[in-house]
This record gives sequence, C-alpha cells and structure tokens, in this order.
Amino acid sequence: MSQSLDFGAILEGLYPYRRTTQSHRALPGEPLDRAAILAEVTGMASAEDEMGDRGLVSGSLYSGDHDHYGFLGEVFSLFSHANVLQRDMYPSATKFEGEIIAMTSDLLHGTGVGVITSGGSESLITALYAYREKARETRGVTAPNVVLPRTAHVALEKGAHWMNIEVRHAPLTDAYVADVAAMADLVDDNTIALVGSAANYAHGLIDPIEEIAALAQERGIGMHVDGCLGGWLLPWVERLGYAVPLWDFRVPGVTSISADTHKYGYALKGSSVLLYRDKDLRRHQYFTSSDWPGGLYISPGLAGSRSGGLIASTWAALLATGESGYLAAADDIMRTAVAIRDGIRERIPQLEVIGDPTFLIAVKAAGDPQDPQDPNGLDMYLVNDALIEQGWRMNALQLPPALHFCVTRPNTADGVAESFVGALEKAVAYAVAHRGEPASSGALYGFGGQPQGQQTLQVLMSGYLDAMHEVAPDLPAV
Ligand SMILES: *Cc1c(COP(=O)(O)O)cnc(C)c1O
Repeated sequence: MSQSLDFGAILEGLYPYRRTTQSHRALPGEPLDRAAILAEVTGMASAEDEMGDRGLVSGSLYSGDHDHYGFLGEVFSLFSHANVLQRDMYPSATKFEGEIIAMTSDLLHGTGVGVITSGGSESLITALYAYREKARETRGVTAPNVVLPRTAHVALEKGAHWMNIEVRHAPLTDAYVADVAAMADLVDDNTIALVGSAANYAHGLIDPIEEIAALAQERGIGMHVDGCLGGWLLPWVERLGYAVPLWDFRVPGVTSISADTHKYGYALKGSSVLLYRDKDLRRHQYFTSSDWPGGLYISPGLAGSRSGGLIASTWAALLATGESGYLAAADDIMRTAVAIRDGIRERIPQLEVIGDPTFLIAVKAAGDPQDPQDPNGLDMYLVNDALIEQGWRMNALQLPPALHFCVTRPNTADGVAESFVGALEKAVAYAVAHRGEPASSGALYGFGGQPQGQQTLQVLMSGYLDAMHEVAPDLPAV
C-alpha cells in the first residue's frame, strides 16, 4: 500500500466550484439577485445528484424519488421557520412528534416511549447519556464504561469521549458478529449498558441481540440496540419472509433502540427516533431548569431551537409511504442485495462476502493480502480504485480491508445489480493485474500500520477537517 497522497486531487474534490463560481469571503454589499442565487444552487444540486440518481452509490441516499423529495420539501417549507420549542405556538409539532414516535414504536414492538433527534449519532449519544445518568443516580457509578462489539458505530465512541465514558470493545466471532462471551468478561460494576447492532454499519450484520440482552438482564443493566440503519428496513425484510433474528423490543432485556427515519424511513436528512422501553430511562435524558433568569426551561435533549419543518416532513414521509410502500421498497432492495451477494459468490472466487448479510453486502479478499504467494490475496483498495474509475462509489472499510455496498432504492433500478457485479469482476481483474502497486483509495489506510502511522493519520484527518471549514483557496494565476 502506498503512502503517496495526491493533495492536488484532494483540493479539487473539496473545492470544485472555485473554478466556476465566485468565492465569498465577506458579505456582498448589496443583496444578490434571488434568481441568480437559485440558478447557482440549482446547478450544483443537479450536478451532485447525478451519480446517486444513476444508482451507482452505496448507502447515503435512501429514497432517490424526486417526487417524494419535492413533496417533503413542500411540507418542510410550511414549518421551516417554526421553532418547535414554542409549543403554545406550534401544537402541530406535538401531534407530528408523538405520532412519529408511536409509528416507529409500533413497528419495533415498543411501548410508545421515545424522542426525536437530529440523526443516528445524536440518538446513540443521547442513549449513552441516559444510561450514564441512570447509573450515576441509582448505583452511584462515577467511572462509567460501556461494553460494545468492535463494529458498533463510532458515534458511540465520540459520545463516550465527550462524556468521559470508557469504551470497552469486544472482539468479533468468526461470523463477524459480537462475541458475547468476550462481552461478558468486560462487564463490571461500572458498566452502564451493553450495545449491539441491527445491523452494523461496516458489514450489515445483526449481532446476537437475544444473547446480549440476556447478559444485560443477568447483570442488571440496560441494552441499547443500534437500529439506526436497519430499524426502518428489517421489520419489512422479516415480513417478506427473509430470515431475520429477533432484535427489537420483542427481546426481553432490550431497553432502548435507535432507528433513523432519515435512512430507510425515507425522510429528509436530520431525523432519527430513539425509543426506550420505559419512561424512567427516558427521564434521565431530560433537562429542566427552574431558576434561570430567562425563565422556566425544559428540553428533552441536546437541541434547543428546532425547526418544525423536519418534524412535519418526517411525519409526512411515513404517512406518504405507508406499510405497502415500505414493503415494496424492501422487496426491491432485498432482490437487488441478493442478486449482488449471489453474483459475487458465484462469479468472483477471489472475493469473500463477509458473514451472512441481508441488505448490505461487504466483501473482502478471499485470501491473505499480506501473502504475496496467495493468488486470492487482493488489495481491496485497488479493487475500489477500479470501481471508482468505472463510476461507482462504495464505502471503504478496514480491519480487515474490505468494501461494502449498502443497497438503497436508487440501486434497485433495472440492471444495476447485474452491472455492479460485472464492474466488480473487472475491478478484481485490475487488482490482480496491478498487485503490489499503490492504491490511491488505500493511501490513507496505508498509514495505519506504519510506525507513528496512527499519529500521522490523526494529523492528516484533522487537517482535512480544517480544509472543510475554509473558503476555496485562490486559483493559481495562469
Ligand atoms: C448511519 C448510522 C449511524 C449514525 O447515524 P448518523 O445519522 O450518520 O448520525 C449509527 N449506526 C449505524 C449502524 C448507522 O448506519
């Protein structure tokens, strides 16, 4: 793997519009013409939608239906300016929010208790906070830890970092799911909760939720199931007759679940549901202040002011899709995912599908990439390079090096699965032919294994974040 980074390409990727639009470093003195602004953003939006609309992107875009987006935008615009913190002015928000929670809870066999958040990360971090507060208040835990499988979503690590909670990672089994015996060994008196995923982001696999929940019950602690990705899809996959192990509130011991409406709920970005089995746990995330000069203040979670637009449009997305809409979408998604999974297994022996997936297919090299004699020891980042070259956008993984295709509705169009498997075959042939050469999509991953590599990577990643918050650098004079 190479350590050669192409900074020119990174710059082009971050700031393509420096070539075609004016960069603003200060407010314009006079207002710009609305029509001109609209023309500029319309151009950007249609250019940026193109790849996703052709079905070449893994995950990220879940609905892909522009009529649906247009309808949600209409609903959004009616409440975009409304601050739902002011409930006396906007009782509609109470109806929308309560009904979104109720519909999600009904789907996941819950008790109707939950909150709405801005996304999966906020749902996970909020759950972590509720467990931490509960453990502190009821058990006096002051040095909390959370036990989770290595594949649990990294937002939990972010939240734990913010809230000074120790993260204890359990390894995976050979089937790439949580090793529950290893989790049991990591639990102690300071453990606030256990976590499992349905399904996890990296490999799309469902952890043994029933076993983890039984462990949680045995130890007298709660269990969160991260259903951010699968929460709004797996119930339909189960109804269609595919094998889906129990993972929701039907499992005793599961005490909270996150399910993102902005993924397979087909709502606009910025919405997720966090469900609790009981109101007591939910109370631990609430904040109330009765002695602030600004008045009596109540807030369920992190956000203060919130737009009514997102709540209204999320509610509208659920109603405008309905059971039959979600079932039909899940049917298309599963047919596509199965075609991709089987196509890889039948036609590409150099690759191995990780575990036994449903809607998200992760693949790794069938052999050992570190062994130059192993004919199946492919560099998966070379495979990714060749997929990118053919216009596809997969998600790159590490530990082990792999790629995944999270199948969404835009990918279910006729011919997409077949053409993906064909592209992957070509990409594998490319990786075989170019074995040992540096992969551009693997350049950053290459640092990880070097001495000081992790530190170098951290510096590079922070530098990238800096660059993401700057105006495009001026073009060099020609
Ligand atoms: C997407 C995802 C999250 C995080 O959600 P965001 O909405 O990106 O904050 C958490 N868990 C899983 C399994 C996910 O796929």
